Amino acid sequence: MVLSVYVVFAVIILITAFFIVKTLRTKTRMGNMLAYAMVSGLLVLVSFFLNCVIGDEMLMMEFCSLAAAFTDWSLYFLLMFIAEFVGRRIKREMRLFSACVFIFDSVLLITNPINNFLGRYEYVELEHVKCSVMVQKELFVIHIALCYCVVATMIILLVDKIIKTSRYYRLKYFLAFGAMVLLIVVDTYYKLSIENDIDYSKVFYSFAAIVFYYSAYSFSPRQLTKSLQEYVNDNISDAMIMYDNEGSVLRANQMARNLISEDIIVTKDNLFKYLDLFDEDDSEGEVKVRREIASYLYDVTYNPIYDRHGTYLASTFIFHDVTQVERRLEREHEIATMDPLTRSFNRTGFFEAAREFLDTSDSDAGYTLMINGINNFKGINGLYGTKAGDTVLIKISRMLHDYHHEFPMIYGRTAEGKFAMLLPTEYVDEIVSSMTTIPMDIGNDNHIHVDLRHGFVLLEDRSKPLEYYYERALLALARCKNRGQIPVVEFTAEMQEEIEQRELLLSEMHDAIERKEFFIELQPQIDLNKNVVCGAEALVRWNHPTLGKISPGEFIPLFETNGFITEIDRFVWNEVAELIKRFSEAGYYNGPVSVNVSQVDITTIDVARELEAIVNKYEIPVNRFHVEITESACVDNRDALIRTMSALRSKGFIVEIDDFGSGYSSLNALVDLPFDVVKLDMMFMRDKAPDEKGSVIVSSMTDMIHKLNAKIIAEGVETGSNVETARKFNVDVAQGYHYSRPLSLTDFLDYVKQHC
Ligand code: C2E
Ligand code: CA
Ligand code: CA
Repeated sequence: MVLSVYVVFAVIILITAFFIVKTLRTKTRMGNMLAYAMVSGLLVLVSFFLNCVIGDEMLMMEFCSLAAAFTDWSLYFLLMFIAEFVGRRIKREMRLFSACVFIFDSVLLITNPINNFLGRYEYVELEHVKCSVMVQKELFVIHIALCYCVVATMIILLVDKIIKTSRYYRLKYFLAFGAMVLLIVVDTYYKLSIENDIDYSKVFYSFAAIVFYYSAYSFSPRQLTKSLQEYVNDNISDAMIMYDNEGSVLRANQMARNLISEDIIVTKDNLFKYLDLFDEDDSEGEVKVRREIASYLYDVTYNPIYDRHGTYLASTFIFHDVTQVERRLEREHEIATMDPLTRSFNRTGFFEAAREFLDTSDSDAGYTLMINGINNFKGINGLYGTKAGDTVLIKISRMLHDYHHEFPMIYGRTAEGKFAMLLPTEYVDEIVSSMTTIPMDIGNDNHIHVDLRHGFVLLEDRSKPLEYYYERALLALARCKNRGQIPVVEFTAEMQEEIEQRELLLSEMHDAIERKEFFIELQPQIDLNKNVVCGAEALVRWNHPTLGKISPGEFIPLFETNGFITEIDRFVWNEVAELIKRFSEAGYYNGPVSVNVSQVDITTIDVARELEAIVNKYEIPVNRFHVEITESACVDNRDALIRTMSALRSKGFIVEIDDFGSGYSSLNALVDLPFDVVKLDMMFMRDKAPDEKGSVIVSSMTDMIHKLNAKIIAEGVETGSNVETARKFNVDVAQGYHYSRPLSLTDFLDYVKQHC
């Protein structure tokens, strides 16, 4: 055989093998069928090739038959593939049946060299090679009929699909159909001219399979993609324009045509000018700009497109409408920064606007941050209703607004009854004098005088955050109240020192606990009937290395704001448990000691469980441990308060209501709360003549407490007359400077020795 034939065979085998792998990789049933068809086609080719080169007559006959048998299987798998390809499922029984027919035909073919049922063999000389061919007998018609039946079925399936499918996909099936027809033509041609030529039709099985592979897996309906692209372009809400490399318009969607007139769209130059863009030579990459077109806001994206070699091909413009987004952002910003009631800035808005004001004004004038607080705003709301309260706020806001015309300033309502202003310092006096007592008609024929208090601070360093000054103005405002309701207070250096001290204390608290700077003092409590010490209250102190002994009044409120109070309380509870054990073992003191529990503890930790653990740890009788809780402190979380008090009592602790009668405490508390002792502030009973109304109230209250099986301790007993008063109201126990100040532990033991 000539070399070229070898080469053709080798190339075909390699290509087919390549496509077999590719097809198998698709991992689909359709792919598998096509791959098996290709494998069979390859075997046809190999059998035919061996027939031509092997020389042995018996083997030549066998390979001649094998080529025909593999043709069967190639057709069988092609049929299965085409069925899948056109979307028809062949039933299992049908598949089995056709497989049986093919097996039967294959057996006939393979055994033919022995039995010659289908034909006998002849040897022909084809292009210098000898090869065996079959001279068909009548029975061979079985094989031919089978092959043509299968081919006809495939053609019917394809034609049916070509007719039924959409025009976009017709080409896909048409390609497969074309390959099929070509296969038949070539095959028939070689069948008829068998004497003259090598049967190259075998090669076409592989060729057809490759076309099938392309139709099934690589075909893309270009026309459809294009139309869909156009559909998308016309229906997305962005306007889009494409230009070719010369800058002439290729395409503009409907949105673009609605937005920009045709004479501008027509060339890229015009559009560049219209959008007031840079020189186009400068624009090598994507460019984004925001433009207002026909009173809408657009994000315009310009994108030049280059090929792999960097040659400029085309460009696109996309106009994305951001008007809605911008308007929404504006609205959200407004909601976040404005107070809807007074139409002035809220706290956030005030800080934002004031910062901008300071950053943009280059006046050298000194500025002041001032807070105007409505005196007793809650009272106005309570007395006249929130509507009246709203009216007051609106009127004050209007007055502030009017100052806009007089001098540059920013104002806003920064808290419920508070306005903040940033204004030139020279106008502070004017505001104070005109806005301290404001007569107002608040509706429903109510004319009231609204009092404002002003706290202010000079902005010494404009670069500091305004929140820094706001805090200070707030502190100054608070001082108005402390100093007997004076209308205006300026933040001073002395207040600054206080702030610094607070900050110092906060920064040192953790180390202080470790350095054991906290310690306790005990204030004796005297049984008024027996005149002996019957208890003591543990009070914490801080022995600061530089500031000396600091009283709890200074650091406890501070530590309540950051939760550190719980650490202090735990420390005190442990110390007290330890000293109860130590004192009683030494026989110095066998009475109870009370500890304080902060409102913060109630809401953040399980006080009862922790105290129980401490008592167990030191093995002391639980009733020696008294627990003082200020009832009014827990107005917001009454449930937690009641739960804690009940839990403590159920574990055997003695629960005392501290500071009863001060602040907001009420008789209701006595009904709701589970307690064993009430601590009444002496202030409550002081200077009450026996026949006075107040006196009647106090004595009925003390009666009531006694009837509830509770004891009364009077605290703040400073004088002999206080003692008398306490006795008059049947108080059981007294505590106060009259007997003793809080004492160090050793002094306390001395005191006990003298008063037992
Ligand atoms: P409190 O629980 O009402 O404690 C009584 C306060 O009254 C103590 O002030 C005490 O020194 C003071 N005092 C005693 N007798 C008299 C008197 O005759 N006249 C006057 N005017 N005052 C008297 P102190 O030690 O400054 O404690 C202040 C507050 O700090 C306590 O008030 C309590 O609420 C809190 N506190 C003290 N120690 C602790 C503690 O360990 N934990 C917690 N959470 N709070 C504590
Ligand atoms: Ca107390
Ligand atoms: Ca108290």
